Amino acid sequence: MITKINDMSKVLFCRICNSAARSIRICNPLILFSFLFLPLSSFLFTSCSLRKQAASNDVAVLQPVGPAFCADSAYAFCEAQCEFGPRTMNSQAHEDCGAWIMEKFKSYGMSVTPQQALLKGYDGTMLRATNIIASYRPELTDRILICAHWDSRPWADNDPDEANWHKPVLAANDGASGVAVMLELARLLSPDSCLLSPSLGVDFLCFDAEDWGFPQWEDTDDPGDTWALGAQHWAANPHTDGYKARYGILLDMVGGQGAQFYQEQVSLQYARSIVKKVWRASQVVGFGSFFPKREGVGITDDHLPVNRVAKIPCIDIIPYYPDCAQSSFGPTWHTVNDDMAHIDRNTLQAVGQTLIQVLWSEK
Ligand SMILES: [Zn+2]
Repeated sequence: MITKINDMSKVLFCRICNSAARSIRICNPLILFSFLFLPLSSFLFTSCSLRKQAASNDVAVLQPVGPAFCADSAYAFCEAQCEFGPRTMNSQAHEDCGAWIMEKFKSYGMSVTPQQALLKGYDGTMLRATNIIASYRPELTDRILICAHWDSRPWADNDPDEANWHKPVLAANDGASGVAVMLELARLLSPDSCLLSPSLGVDFLCFDAEDWGFPQWEDTDDPGDTWALGAQHWAANPHTDGYKARYGILLDMVGGQGAQFYQEQVSLQYARSIVKKVWRASQVVGFGSFFPKREGVGITDDHLPVNRVAKIPCIDIIPYYPDCAQSSFGPTWHTVNDDMAHIDRNTLQAVGQTLIQVLWSEK
């Protein structure tokens, strides 16, 4: 990540756990049941049941649809990435984790395309980058794009302790969490018996080289274009000629404790209807407290080139902490504390279930 484009007034927080617990009771009891009692393999049955129920109801989009997102599974995917160590550009951990991500997507039946590129960092370092595209039903032209970056920031330049400013970030939240949610969605998409709309394909795009951006310790100002290098490359050189998608949803830092996802300004500028769709879906599945209908700041992130260059309307689901002194991106952002101890399954659940609602509601 990322730089803040503007600012906004302070807003009080909700108590997340209480809100989620309260709202979940108004959800479809099948979903609640599956959260609490069913093993992973049973989610597939739950998926079919919910889908059938929704299809037989005229107001299907106002009810939970699709399978139950498993936060434990997403948490494990997050942890597995962190076990490689910081996935900083040109490191062995980066290479090994990239191979692991590709294998996991393949194991869920996705068609995986690695897009390799040599990209120039702000400091002249040549970065061996790989954007990973995992496609569900690659033969279909009607598609939805879900994306997140998978590299780790090489410098904890926002750490409160200056001694850590040149240490790498483990990036449990700022990297691994978005990929983890995508892997869990891929796992839930894989069984042929529980398909979403038969005319719809999905791409999971893991952007590389997002977080080699201009460090705070440099004396000059951030030129602004040193971030999202993998996304910039993909937007100008998509993995298939003339690639199109109905819309895109970027996930960035979707596992943090106390996270709330305000409506980000670039998303509102380029894809307001998608923002409305996603925030509405969060309410339907009982996680509206994580998605306040309030405007956040504008962020330079991977969705910027997707909107401006690839011309695909793309939103950014990214947290905003208006009252956090350390950073409005949260207390662990670009610090050595961005580790698994600060990942909250409730946040992963809120984002994952909302995405399922969005995808499975599409006609
Ligand atoms: Zn970052």
